[in-house]
Amino acid sequence: MFDVIIAGCGPTGAMLAAELRLHDVRVLVLEKETEPKSFVRIVGLHIRSIELMAMRGLLDRIREHGRQRPAGGFFAATDKPAPKGLDSAHAYLLGIPQPVIERLLEEHAIHLGAQVRRGCVVADFEQDDDGVTVELADGEQLRSRYLVGCDGGRSTVRKLLGVGFPGEPSRTETLMGEMKVGVPQEEIAAKVTEIGETNKRFWLRPAGVGAYSVVVPAAGVSDRAEPPTLEDFKQQLRAIAGTDFGVHSPRWLSRFGDATRLAERYRVGRVLLAGDAAHIHPPTGGQGLNLGVQDAVNLGWKLAAQIRGWAPETLLDTYQAERHPVAEDVLDNTRAQMELHSTEPGPQAVRRLLTELMDFDEVNRYLIEKITGIGIRYDFGEGPDLLGRRLRDIDVKQGRLYGLLHRGRGLLLDRTERLTVGGWSDRVDYLADPAAALDGPCVLLRPDGHVAWIGDGQQDLDEHLSRWFGKPAN
Ligand SMILES: Cc1cc2nc3c(=O)[nH]c(=O)nc-3n(C[C@H](O)[C@H](O)[C@H](O)COP(=O)(O)OP(=O)(O)OC[C@H]3O[C@@H](n4cnc5c(N)ncnc54)[C@H](O)[C@@H]3O)c2cc1C
Repeated sequence: MFDVIIAGCGPTGAMLAAELRLHDVRVLVLEKETEPKSFVRIVGLHIRSIELMAMRGLLDRIREHGRQRPAGGFFAATDKPAPKGLDSAHAYLLGIPQPVIERLLEEHAIHLGAQVRRGCVVADFEQDDDGVTVELADGEQLRSRYLVGCDGGRSTVRKLLGVGFPGEPSRTETLMGEMKVGVPQEEIAAKVTEIGETNKRFWLRPAGVGAYSVVVPAAGVSDRAEPPTLEDFKQQLRAIAGTDFGVHSPRWLSRFGDATRLAERYRVGRVLLAGDAAHIHPPTGGQGLNLGVQDAVNLGWKLAAQIRGWAPETLLDTYQAERHPVAEDVLDNTRAQMELHSTEPGPQAVRRLLTELMDFDEVNRYLIEKITGIGIRYDFGEGPDLLGRRLRDIDVKQGRLYGLLHRGRGLLLDRTERLTVGGWSDRVDYLADPAAALDGPCVLLRPDGHVAWIGDGQQDLDEHLSRWFGKPAN
């Protein structure tokens, strides 16, 4: 008997497993692939995800494998630098191969005590009042108290749950691959710059050791069921650039679409959905993995609280209440970005107008805060602007704030030195006189770093501790 079975060991599943282990929850991750993916796609970790890695003590390890790039230029690939003074100590983008971030997150989960079983396909499940019986494709049955489907866009768990996945099917397909080229770099660079002015769905970029990452529209490459061939890439390159750049020796070739869908519910009884299993959208702006990792950090402590027995009655349902609107917003901004990628005159005109508007600092800041996840404000009710937002990694007496959040517990920052977390001290840490630039006398942080309360009265604090952390221990 496990507490939680997670279907899928992608970035979402691995992060969730690690978050649950911070609270001693017995976790089993079932992954259908026998080996980690070898598909080297560079993904970008945006500011909020980088912050989460810092909050869990993972950032130094991840940074060793990633490349820092400026945070700007992500909304519809609009060539605008980020505005000055973004509200983060980690205001950059971290480019990292997806298999590497997946491996690091899986290692982190295993290090914390999660079990990961590869080559196990979740084929069916049945839930009852006490738990979930999970059946694997080979007929083996496993039992847990909860099941979380982190099994990607084609999620078996979501389909078996019968949860609707409304949205739009894929309309625009794109080819992506890594291969060698037969012409000098300067020749490629000049052509790419010229075409890139108007066509944002085309690029050839050096991908290390003589290889290039190639992206071209798949228009006319009709059979979606078949993997693309090198000839498909050559044809598309010739159609767009008038040359195929002598591409040869592909390392991998793939295709992706722009289907945009959002699960109607994130929870049915003891079964939950997170990551691509709950939402899919085109990769424009590089948000999918970030969204999944952030789902995992939102869900982890709540599910752990439910299992440990201290969760207030409605806590687990705040997962959907908070994360569904965030995904809705990401889906919408990717829809908008896809329109701006069109080479038609109308969208190109809107694109030029938006590019001009982004010269206004507030517009640029608004879009960057959206894409990077630092603009998210959960609805915790009436209160100061900081309530419901994440607190940036500020300096505190003991070093950096995020260094105090590695264990995934709540934290009270008390500048009055008069308050106490009392009977919640097994779940919430306390820091008196943090000497920090706080926007309030005292701030209560949830384990995911979001501000749950701002104030200075003990009774008010106790009410909010109960709201988020349940009944106090005796
Ligand atoms: C071209 C491209 C570029 C992208 N770039 C970015 C980017 O820059 N930034 C970004 O944030 N996102 C990016 N993304 C999106 C990102 O790759 C996904 O959003 C992310 O992988 C989702 O993670 P996940 O763990 O939710 O799902 P997945 O990564 O799909 O993982 C699901 C896992 O579940 C396993 N599984 C499936 N079914 C079962 C089953 N029945 N039983 C057991 N295991 C199962 C799968 O094998 C897989 O390992 C990009 C996507 C594409 C296509």
